[in-house]
Amino acid sequence: MAMAMRRAAALGARHILAASVSASSRVASRRHMGSVDAGAAMEKIRAAGLLRTRGLIGGKWVDAYDGKTIEVQNPATGEVLANVACMGNRETADAITSANTTFYTWSKLTASERSKALRKWHDLLMSHKEELALLMTLEQGKPMKEALGEVNYGASFIEFFAEEAKRVYGDIIPPTLADRRLLVLKQPIGVVGAITPWNFPLAMITRKVGPALACGCTVVVKPSEFTPLTALAAADLALQAGIPAGALNVVMGNAPEIGDELMQSTQVRKITFTGSTAVGKKLMAGSANTVKKVSLELGGNAPCIVFDDADIDVAVKGSLAAKFRNSGQTCVCANRILVQEGIYEKFASAFVKAVQSLQVGNGLEESTSQGPLINEAAVQKVEKFVGDATSKGANIMLGGKRHSLGMSFYEPTVVGNVSNDMLLFSEEVFGPVAPLIPFKTEEEAIHLANDTNAGLAAYMFTKNIARSWRVSEALEYGLVGVNEGLISTEVIERQIKSLNLLRYEPTM
Ligand code: NAP
Repeated sequence: MAMAMRRAAALGARHILAASVSASSRVASRRHMGSVDAGAAMEKIRAAGLLRTRGLIGGKWVDAYDGKTIEVQNPATGEVLANVACMGNRETADAITSANTTFYTWSKLTASERSKALRKWHDLLMSHKEELALLMTLEQGKPMKEALGEVNYGASFIEFFAEEAKRVYGDIIPPTLADRRLLVLKQPIGVVGAITPWNFPLAMITRKVGPALACGCTVVVKPSEFTPLTALAAADLALQAGIPAGALNVVMGNAPEIGDELMQSTQVRKITFTGSTAVGKKLMAGSANTVKKVSLELGGNAPCIVFDDADIDVAVKGSLAAKFRNSGQTCVCANRILVQEGIYEKFASAFVKAVQSLQVGNGLEESTSQGPLINEAAVQKVEKFVGDATSKGANIMLGGKRHSLGMSFYEPTVVGNVSNDMLLFSEEVFGPVAPLIPFKTEEEAIHLANDTNAGLAAYMFTKNIARSWRVSEALEYGLVGVNEGLISTEVIERQIKSLNLLRYEPTM
């Protein structure tokens, strides 16, 4: 949004996060809730008025026009949590019309007025932290500790953009002719279509909606069919905060129909999407007809390089956090752990020991640090990748199979001697599998790390300051964590290479 960000992006900026203190606890909230029963959790959410199952169009909660619904299931138990409206093109068209109408009033408010409403939304999200976290754990499976952390993280985007709303400055450009003055006015572009994934049911929405609303745009959000309940609860709180009817609309259900309607509409001026590379490419192509702006946050394939000179405890702790957060289901998860020969054996054995201590279970249980994968298809993908690796010579050091808990639980897994001809190297596994890849030299590590089309995030563990700068600059990634495994924050964008386009642009 701010000019500095755009310029930085134009230069292919990378952000280097070096840990100055012990690993950040920002994402993992310190708050304790104890174990919670699923029935009691649903009751608490219902009592707070946050169990919404209909779409939100023009400030009204609406059923699908043909009455169709889809089930939202708890991936830890298979239990049906709710039936939500299964919407398509007609509901999306109405949501766009409502957003377009509201644009003419919302965009006319002062930045300060918009900022106040956003700030109030932030405060409501935080005061309903427990209910939102319970919803996320129930529909997505992540442990409560991570879900509470996601509420902090998700709300931080609204707070940040409430502040930024007041700082959307223009530019004065030195004129080329003496009698001219050149000014740049920044104005909201109109309706934004926001399509979000299931792995961060709250934060991926607030990250898109925050900047859009702050600048005066209005939004139609389409959350994933797997996690609509968190999105609807957050939208309810937006209404309570005074964000006007029609400024934020939510439709969910038939993804291709909703996507097509958003892409074809001339009223929608921007598509902002977080999700898989395959769907992102479709949306980019589909947006060409109406020449829309697009912001794409797509898949990752993050390398995590452990050099011989790393502090082994820091490297194990950081790699563990980077790999196993949300059971390996984040775009910035360490997908390939490259370990230098001299430290390989020592690191591998300490890492395996640390992974062994991860507690698999229902996220509502206090002891759980690894929840289920989102669904059966996700488990099958993990099985395929692990099978491919072992058939080509990799060795299972830990785990390597479905967890005895059944459902979509998979054992936290470490695979040794992975090489670049294996799926575990070339594609995003999106599950709790850590592939260890040995390397000899710094040059080889950089080459292996950059040997992918994804350019989202990378990690490095070394005590050598000169090397940390040298390698950070050589890594073709938007975010580089140095001696740090948790690197997402509300204040920096991340992108580089072909698979991710700048994100703080949905608004201008
Ligand atoms: P996905 O299958 O691409 O789905 C993302 C969203 O797109 C969902 O809302 C989905 O709807 C919707 N969708 C699917 N097909 C569509 C179509 N034809 N038209 C319009 N919308 C469509 O991705 P996912 O499995 O939910 O998320 C995991 C992926 O997201 C991973 O690759 C991960 O790396 C990436 N991700 C990236 C970032 C980042 O910052 N770069 C952050 C988080 C996740 P339904 O779910 O209802 O089908």
